[in-house]
Amino acid sequence: MNVIFLGPPGAGKGTQAQVICARLGIPQISTGDMLRAAIEAKSEIGLKAKTFMDAGQLVPDDVVIALVRERVAAADCVKGFLLDGFPRTVEQARALGSIAKIDRVINISVADDVLVKRLSGRRVCPVCGAPYHVDRLHGATQCTVDGVTLVQRDDDKPETVLNRLQVYHQKTAPLIDYYQKEGLLRTVDGSTGLESVSDAILKALEAAR
Ligand code: AMP
Repeated sequence: MNVIFLGPPGAGKGTQAQVICARLGIPQISTGDMLRAAIEAKSEIGLKAKTFMDAGQLVPDDVVIALVRERVAAADCVKGFLLDGFPRTVEQARALGSIAKIDRVINISVADDVLVKRLSGRRVCPVCGAPYHVDRLHGATQCTVDGVTLVQRDDDKPETVLNRLQVYHQKTAPLIDYYQKEGLLRTVDGSTGLESVSDAILKALEAAR
């Protein structure tokens, strides 16, 4: 099954993708993670992407489309894949339509004020990428798995968060309508708690199996 997770930054796409991919036995394809890895590796794509990402802007369509085209052709995608953070523009959705057949689009919906709190309080492990929130760290500063000091993503800084939300509403939210018209969209409330959101997603995916 080929699935897309749609939703604003901070909706929990990455966290839910880990749960759902483990359940379905399909790989999670996060363009954000791929771009961050490219930056880390100081590759040409990484150098090109960094300025856009740090400013909370979208990386140009041709760059991410090429990344996804290559990734979904890999052997581990034969049983399906879950796209987390792609497509983010109508242009990307159109390109994806010619790359793969999509079975279901899950729109994880969360109000803006909740997203701002989630994103600006988010801390991540620089080694394993595990996400934390300052409200639940109770002063702790290290990853419970790796023991390394947690960091704030550059694009989770307050001024960039607002930019990312604006970009989402302008460029990505139109995809809700796009996939609704294709009859693929199911919306779940992303503010009800981790387990109940996972249950709602699994239920929405059941119908597409
Ligand atoms: P994410 O980890 O999904 O929140 O993505 C972090 C940043 O990576 C975004 O703010 C964009 O700058 C960039 N990015 C990730 N996916 C895409 C995409 N599909 N199209 C354009 N830029 C992207």
